Amino acid sequence: MNKVYTKVTDQLHFFEGNDPVELAKEYGTPVYVYNERILRQRCRDLKQLVTYPKFVVDYSAKANSSLAFLQIVKSEGLEVDAMSPGEIFMERQAGFAPEEIFYICNNVSAQEMQYAVDAGVVISVDSLSQLEQLGQIAPGHEVAIRFNPGVGAGHHEKVVTAGKKTKFGIEPKYIPQVREILKKYDLKLVGINQHIGSLFMTGEAFVASIAVLFEIAKQFPGLRFVDMGGGFGIPYKKEFDEAPLDLKELGTAIDKALYQFAQEYGEQITLRIEPGRYISAECSMILSQVQAVKHNHDKKFVGCDCGFNVLQRPIMYDSYHGVEIYRASEALSEKKEIVTIVGNICESGDILAKDRELPEIFKGDILGILDAGAYGFTMASNYNNRLRPAEILIRENGDVVLIREREVLEDLLRHQIALDM
Ligand SMILES: *Cc1c(COP(=O)(O)O)cnc(C)c1O
Repeated sequence: MNKVYTKVTDQLHFFEGNDPVELAKEYGTPVYVYNERILRQRCRDLKQLVTYPKFVVDYSAKANSSLAFLQIVKSEGLEVDAMSPGEIFMERQAGFAPEEIFYICNNVSAQEMQYAVDAGVVISVDSLSQLEQLGQIAPGHEVAIRFNPGVGAGHHEKVVTAGKKTKFGIEPKYIPQVREILKKYDLKLVGINQHIGSLFMTGEAFVASIAVLFEIAKQFPGLRFVDMGGGFGIPYKKEFDEAPLDLKELGTAIDKALYQFAQEYGEQITLRIEPGRYISAECSMILSQVQAVKHNHDKKFVGCDCGFNVLQRPIMYDSYHGVEIYRASEALSEKKEIVTIVGNICESGDILAKDRELPEIFKGDILGILDAGAYGFTMASNYNNRLRPAEILIRENGDVVLIREREVLEDLLRHQIALDM
């Protein structure tokens, strides 16, 4: 292989000696590629975040819920949260026990809530009306409540999930009403939780929000746990040496807050975090093949087979993903140029990377789209009746295994009912 532009994967030893051009040939493109060693390391980073003894990391599975992926997370001793019956189902398939699953629901039907009650998982509700609904379905049941501490954070308005402008959580001023409903249905409050938003690269907002959450928790003696939420960011601009989140500094600040809270609360209860992206983003990338290179008026476009049905983050959140270049031939890129990398979906918003300066790209090159493991495959769709891609895993010993088959055309017919014509 001709390594045209491979700085990040070289630094990470991402391919563990495998050749991405060969992987693309063998498994086809586009394909999600996972590195097991990096995934395990990310799990361990967060398990070791603090010294506080009753600290639990719940992996937030909406970021990536592929079965083999969840199995590895389980084997690292993490627990999980779930946002839907489908996630509860997948997590049970991956081996998580009901007590290891925390269902954080939002505007769900009585039927969905019943599914979670029957599954035996702990349920968090985030409105007075959903609390009332749980009371009606399962009087006397355990419940957790998601509060909105009034502090939000995140990389894009769409992922700020607390503060004054979002749909999530119960405002602390409704605590008297919460107490009334708990009493009315004899519900037992076992935990409180929050999630302020996604992708913070400094810890101030998180630390400020847990202080508010702990003040709320102190009004409820006898809790089993407090869940501080996720949102731990990763550096998407690694090629420019963007610094990672300083876990050491953040861990120290959090640790101090946890011990102090436990002392004031009078008990070392379980304190949890629920990171999704931090665990899943960096262990995965997409291999995609360049199918066309062209000039359109003043712009140069590189067209590849990774449309937004495969990776939705750029069109959904204007997200940045680093791009690398691997080549089968010995041809050299003589110059750097500014290109816009696009996919194969019939929409002009189908842009993967805008105005990037990269070594010249040729038709047939394999592109690596970095840090694609969080909100990547889980947001993939069949838009344009395109097939969802395969997923492969590079094991710690360098072996490569298929963990999800590429869809076939017949999959597009599943659940459809033709008319008798
Ligand atoms: C999405 C989500 C998370 C995970 O967020 P990340 O930014 O991926 O860490 C955690 N908790 C809740 C309630 C969520 O909705």
